[in-house]
Amino acid sequence: MYDVTPDLVWVWQKLEAAVTGLLHQYGYQEIRFPLLEKTALFHSAIGEVTDVVEKEMFTFSDRKGVSISLRPEGTASTVRAVLENGLVYNEPQKLWYSGPMFRYEKPQKGRNRQFSQIGVEVFGYPGPEADAELLLMTHRLWQQLGIDNVRLELNTLGSADCRAAYRSVLIKYFEQHLDVLDEEAKNRLHSNPLRLLDAKNPAMQTVIKAAPSITDYLSDASKEHFARLCAILDACDVPYDINQQLVRGLDYYSHNVFEWITDELGAQGTLCAGGRYDALVEMQGGKPTAATGFAMGVDRLVELIVEKNIWQPPAQTDVYVVWDKQVGVDQVMAISEQLRSDIPGVSVMMHLTAASFKSQFKKADKAGARFTLILGPDEMAQQQISVKTMQDRNVPQQQLSYSDMVSFLKQQLSE
Ligand code: ATP
Ligand code: MG
Repeated sequence: MYDVTPDLVWVWQKLEAAVTGLLHQYGYQEIRFPLLEKTALFHSAIGEVTDVVEKEMFTFSDRKGVSISLRPEGTASTVRAVLENGLVYNEPQKLWYSGPMFRYEKPQKGRNRQFSQIGVEVFGYPGPEADAELLLMTHRLWQQLGIDNVRLELNTLGSADCRAAYRSVLIKYFEQHLDVLDEEAKNRLHSNPLRLLDAKNPAMQTVIKAAPSITDYLSDASKEHFARLCAILDACDVPYDINQQLVRGLDYYSHNVFEWITDELGAQGTLCAGGRYDALVEMQGGKPTAATGFAMGVDRLVELIVEKNIWQPPAQTDVYVVWDKQVGVDQVMAISEQLRSDIPGVSVMMHLTAASFKSQFKKADKAGARFTLILGPDEMAQQQISVKTMQDRNVPQQQLSYSDMVSFLKQQLSE
């Protein structure tokens, strides 16, 4: 777990603001749920045979001995919340959430024990249009953020029936290659054979590549679902690669699954992952409700933006107030206050102790101030304020009355 220091916080804020704005453009609404849930929720909603539940949760007992866990992801909680609040009763929902998730992982680049996700969950739309909208939205997001070199990998797992047929074929296939499977793969072979397809062990890759493909076990309806998604993406000029090895480890996934991947972050290059999970709401005690969604890793996006210098830091301060101690701090504070009232939203930083002009100007530079106001005895005697344009040495320093100074700043700051 790590701290986000002030020199980087602006990236997080700008990113969160961009995503929030985009979600609003598409008509998604925010939902907020607790950081803690009963452990049982994650066991039933994520599945027993998954990395997250088997080895990644922060789990402990509360004072009454009930097992609770820090949320490792947001889908389980969203489903619980929509059911408890009756949100999907005969009506669709397009929801998003954002915030910290917790997984006990081996910390490394792109993999933290507390990390941040922005997730989207859509309920009540069984057709591929909802999946398509998620992909169009994320595609637009990369463009807005200035991130290129991110590719979309897409696959379909078909309906639950198709998958059941494929599952037994897959078990038979891997049983013929037991000598190559590692312990984890052997343990999962019967409970979650699809998961073997995205095992990372290099020694298993040849066998995995040669495994039978789900494509051969899809019903016509499942093929059609996927083809319609691809057709929308084609019509909207969103490029994608079909990757038949792409599976989401969880049992309740069906039909479309996808990942947005960059090669610029090394091994942890998946920025956003998701898919359709039509079975989950019913598994959690609701009426059968189609659902699809994704979660994106905000830490990785921030890392990419910082490493590739995609954004420049914004000017922190509009106006820095430099003053001489003969003027008196009361008057300087009163003027700074007046300025904050007269120019809504302006950032005014005032030097909080008496100091030499030289050191105050140094601070103004460091704060990235666009303008400094100079309040010295001469200025005060003439009821004037000197204004210096910091980032353009060609603009001469000028002495203005307070109200002319306000007009000047208003005009300059709006440019
Ligand atoms: P992986 O196979 O890399 O472990 P995952 O399947 O566990 O990924 P998801 O549960 O699908 O990942 O989470 C969605 C996204 O959240 C990931 O694509 C990634 O961007 C981000 N993410 C997941 N775990 C972490 C982590 N420990 N630290 C930082 N980001 C993470
Ligand atoms: Mg993981």
